[in-house]
Amino acid sequence: MEQYQRLWDKIKYQLQLTLDEEVFSEHFNDITNVFKVVNNYVYLVAPNSFVKSKIESFYLNRLNAMLNEEVSEKHMFKIITKEQAAEELQKTTNYEINQPELGLESKYKTGLNNSYTFDNFVVGSSNRLAYTSAMKVADQPGVVANPLYIFGEVGLGKTHLMQCVGNFILENDVHKKVLYVKTDQFIEDFAKAVQKKMFDDFSKKYENVDILLVDDIQFLSGKTQSQLEFFKIFEKLKENNKQIVITSDRPASELYDIMSRLTSRFEWGLSVDINRPNLEHRILILKKKLQAETTDPDLIPDEILDYIASIFDNNVRELEGALKRVLFYCTAFDYKFTIENAEDALKNLINSKNITNKSIEKTNYTNILDIVSSYYGITTTDLLSKKRKKQYVFPRQIAMYILKDMYDLTYKKIGQLFNNRDHSTVIYSIEQIANDLQIDKAKKGDVDKLLIKCGKNG
Ligand code: ADP
Ligand code: MG
Repeated sequence: MEQYQRLWDKIKYQLQLTLDEEVFSEHFNDITNVFKVVNNYVYLVAPNSFVKSKIESFYLNRLNAMLNEEVSEKHMFKIITKEQAAEELQKTTNYEINQPELGLESKYKTGLNNSYTFDNFVVGSSNRLAYTSAMKVADQPGVVANPLYIFGEVGLGKTHLMQCVGNFILENDVHKKVLYVKTDQFIEDFAKAVQKKMFDDFSKKYENVDILLVDDIQFLSGKTQSQLEFFKIFEKLKENNKQIVITSDRPASELYDIMSRLTSRFEWGLSVDINRPNLEHRILILKKKLQAETTDPDLIPDEILDYIASIFDNNVRELEGALKRVLFYCTAFDYKFTIENAEDALKNLINSKNITNKSIEKTNYTNILDIVSSYYGITTTDLLSKKRKKQYVFPRQIAMYILKDMYDLTYKKIGQLFNNRDHSTVIYSIEQIANDLQIDKAKKGDVDKLLIKCGKNG
């Protein structure tokens, strides 16, 4: 604490030297003490919210840069108002305030990774709505959108964004009970509770929280008991205005084999999607990641960042992996950061990327369409057409069912393959087949054979 106080005194002195006198006295003169330091945030108290927001808009970056020149581990300033500080003091004793460990300890149990914060999440058109919604929810949990449902393809920042909400809430109030859980973990916890008949612990863990973050909810698919249990928890939290944030790889309406009373509730709040970032956005992400990796932001020339961003256009995780690889390759062998060296570093990644994209996307889908149409003795054009004759409709539904079963494509995507059919038609078709197969053994045998023809293992 003392160390940070000294740092603030020093920074304040530098500001006094560099800023216009009036500007300095309006913004910084009254800020004398560091209020507390929690989870790498150094709290300063502004005299009122006007000064607070001016500092945040115009000076915070500069303050943070000055701070980080002085400390080894990354720290940031957080400005709060006198009222907020007074409120905190009432809630807790002085003794607790200056104990950063308190924050760390409670964080440990939250399941959160505290490196996922709003300020290292790069915003662009593909994720702006999701970002602002998450900010609003973090600012007023339980009030603006409950649940907040974030969906999108893998590696686009859903987990990151969801954890920002938890981390932000904890930064503002270490006493808030935040729980982040992957859906797998939830299912496992529930199974254990059943096995050991220890429901009290289970309920305590999930129902006694202020904020529940559940990642990858699509994995509840087919798990009826876990779904029922989650439904109960959801109802309870919602009733008490506790915030719930959910992520998924698809919209709630397309969740497969999850009871509709749950999926309909997911739509009660706000649903936002995250899409793939465009080139410009990917470059910004690379720059941000580079900042986190090295102290020299110019270590890798722009043309190499552009090169990486132009190749890795699918998802941010891959993009980040590629950057790390180039960084590692060139520093480990002491090579220069050139396009040729970057190409060498990325050779394997690029090759495997081409194979997966091309073969899965194109060849396999069309293959399946061909296999199904020839099995039923019709042409692929008829299979894909909108003709309503029974001899076409049934194979068409089967083909949709197989695509879903083998590749778990979204209903929307399947609809697109079949002459841009509406996703509701696709859902209907697949459900129809799923029902048929349950009651009709002969049909099921038929489809199983087809699945094997299409390359499904076991
Ligand atoms: P998802 O949960 O959607 O599969 P993650 O949240 O795990 O994706 O993100 C994968 C990686 O990409 C993480 O390291 C995350 O920090 C990074 N990432 C994704 N989107 C962004 C973004 N907009 N800005 C910064 N990093 C991002
Ligand atoms: Mg994730």
